[in-house]
Amino acid sequence: MPLQNADDLIDSVETFIFDCDGVIWKGDSLIDGVPETLDMLRTKGKRLVFVTNNSTKSRKQYGKKFETLGLSVNEDEIFASSFAAAAYLSSINFPKDKKVYVIGEEGILKELELAGFQYVGGPDDGGKKIELKPGFYMEHDENVGAVVVGFDRYFNYYKVQYGTLCIRENPGCLFIATNRDAVTHLTDAQEWAGGGSMVGALCGSTQQEPLVVGKPSTFMMDYLADKFGITKSQICMVGDRLDTDILFGQNGGCKTLLVLSGVTSLAMLENPNNSIQPDFYTSKISDFLSLKAA
Ligand code: PLP
Ligand code: CA
Repeated sequence: MPLQNADDLIDSVETFIFDCDGVIWKGDSLIDGVPETLDMLRTKGKRLVFVTNNSTKSRKQYGKKFETLGLSVNEDEIFASSFAAAAYLSSINFPKDKKVYVIGEEGILKELELAGFQYVGGPDDGGKKIELKPGFYMEHDENVGAVVVGFDRYFNYYKVQYGTLCIRENPGCLFIATNRDAVTHLTDAQEWAGGGSMVGALCGSTQQEPLVVGKPSTFMMDYLADKFGITKSQICMVGDRLDTDILFGQNGGCKTLLVLSGVTSLAMLENPNNSIQPDFYTSKISDFLSLKAA
């Protein structure tokens, strides 16, 4: 239903989890009214947490992005899917003497390094055409115990083959996806293939499904609830996307608010084929400042 009285929603929860792209910013531009809205919520004593499925940056790099946009947000209030991959490996005590093969960009590498994991791969891996001479055999590291796949603008066939060898041939090797977003709005001119496209290539070659650590999986919600000691029914998840953000909130048993400032239009929400319905929807988060009881 449309959000009519924001104060009732604000009073009913202790924590707001905000998705980033489409809610806080669009690409590199801040969405109107965001600083004032976050200030108001902080003044009311609400805990604010920011979650993004974009794995290309680390928490520290996102901290800089918030700062550049004039928002004062602490690094430890930011949960990117790059961080989630490292946090997941820590949560299962992934052995520090094993390696992680990374298909993805710098954010994942930085988070793995901070968590003390050894990795191989990353953006620069492969890149040249593989010349298939008779008998050519690609070696791989048998000490790779996990393959982490995220959005990668340097994606290539070498990476698919290397990741596939690790997953199929190294006993017990984990297959982890930061996220499975089908498309993403890298520019406002069109939709671009998202992290789900790289993950999909590995699903095709391994015939296995990954463990997803970003939205809408429950890993990050459980992690946040545990870290901050929050009861999930006391959380409102605010996002612009139904199959990641709103599902993430619903999977976690939280209240959900869809904002129409990103990828979902009212027509998409009301389409009879859409089965994901948020508790509330509104045009943008700054509506919190104006939507009062009549
Ligand atoms: N993945 C990539 C590569 C992106 O560029 C974006 C948005 O810019 C996303 C995922 C989705 O990010 P968010 O979860 O903040 O909407
Ligand atoms: Ca979003």
